[in-house]
Amino acid sequence: MAAEQELRKLPSVDRLLQEGPVAQLVARWGHELAVEAVRETLVEAREAIRAGAACPPLHSLAGEVEQRLAERLRPTLRPVVNATGVIIHTNLGRAPLSADARAAMEAVALGYSNLEYDLEEGSRGSRYLHAEALLSRLTGAEAALVVNNNAAAVLLVLMALARRMEVMLSRGQLVEIGGGFRIPDVMRQSGAILVEVGTTNRTYLGDFQSAITQDTAALMRVHHSNFRLSGFVHEPSLEELVGLAREQELLVLDDLGSGTLLDTAAFGLAHEPTIQESVAAGASLVTCSGDKLLGATQAGIILGRADLVARLKRFPLTRALRVDKVTLAGLQATLRHYLLGEAPQKVPVWRMIARSEAELRAQAEAWAGELAALGVAAEAVPGRSTVGGGSLPGETLPTWLTAVAFREGTGPDTLAARLRAGEPALVARIEEGQLVLDPRTVLPEQAPEVPALVARAASSP
Ligand SMILES: *Cc1c(COP(=O)(O)O)cnc(C)c1O
Repeated sequence: MAAEQELRKLPSVDRLLQEGPVAQLVARWGHELAVEAVRETLVEAREAIRAGAACPPLHSLAGEVEQRLAERLRPTLRPVVNATGVIIHTNLGRAPLSADARAAMEAVALGYSNLEYDLEEGSRGSRYLHAEALLSRLTGAEAALVVNNNAAAVLLVLMALARRMEVMLSRGQLVEIGGGFRIPDVMRQSGAILVEVGTTNRTYLGDFQSAITQDTAALMRVHHSNFRLSGFVHEPSLEELVGLAREQELLVLDDLGSGTLLDTAAFGLAHEPTIQESVAAGASLVTCSGDKLLGATQAGIILGRADLVARLKRFPLTRALRVDKVTLAGLQATLRHYLLGEAPQKVPVWRMIARSEAELRAQAEAWAGELAALGVAAEAVPGRSTVGGGSLPGETLPTWLTAVAFREGTGPDTLAARLRAGEPALVARIEEGQLVLDPRTVLPEQAPEVPALVARAASSP
């Protein structure tokens, strides 16, 4: 039989391992990984031969082994080019970090640091002190605590301060953030008892007032984040909640979600409540994310009354939610940009928000021109970018897009899939049946490689 004959031509594992290019791979990646790839390659070749194929030449088997090894060694987590125009894209890792933040992270990652060591005293210190002074100074809060993310911050606050007690929240703020974070579920998990007040669209201070009992610990406000309540609506202001809580000696917990130190209205967007406003209004504790509009590392930031923060620090769960030194270094370096008044220029999230339409148009046109030179029809068209990250729903920023034409038979979905498979992967947007690239979210150092990535994807068979 022909198949039997072809099978006999297949090299043995040892023979293939000795083949020039494969031997080099063994030397580079070690015997174990190489043998595994060789075995798999031979199994697959055997199956193909049984199905009627001829025995492949040695060099193509070696090439197959190399490809398998490369795939196995490729990190699953790797950088991508974000051409979606969504600035804080949770699926794409939220906030890119500033050069100073990255340098600070590398410096502490490289070796030892005074993470929990007091250099003046030569004795044990606290990791919680590192971002605290900066956070207090920037927001006016008495004290601060940084944990793993804002979900952890909210859970910790409720658990430590309101377990088995009632926490009151407007029915209009029973928010689902996404990724499984739903306020009623978090409340239940924390052991606090959720008391819903008011209605979906209208809640008054009186609704809170009349629901207060001996078991009430706190009045809570949760920022809507990813949706907008409009029309026949009412919610008491934070100041009103604070006033009521003072009379009754209750806490006011304010989950801001994104949290911003800069006024988004100064950038042509709706006003997103700032951290400073919540602190000034008298919230007992404010919680927010480090990697949304703050533009720093993933973190949960808790700000407010010193006595409450001290209780949180002593609470056993805090240890389980603590942040890593690399995270703290990135956060601290990012906060420094705010202190120096250089955040709009240095913090990538704000730099992207602040990019001018003229600059974006020039980039979209430059890409279209370069693509045309590479044989891919493209044109610059006006469009809209979004902030994302569960902030400013419905708000957009005017931008310019490069719309890529595709060849007959290659729809925008195919082109988008090929771009995602590229090296580096590029994530684009499909709008009205067209593949579009938004330069706003593409980092300056990535921008020059975009036309070549697109041309490769457009021309691949
Ligand atoms: C985003 C968000 C959270 C969760 O924050 P993470 O940092 O993603 O854990 C919690 N509450 C609100 C209101 C949010 O917008």
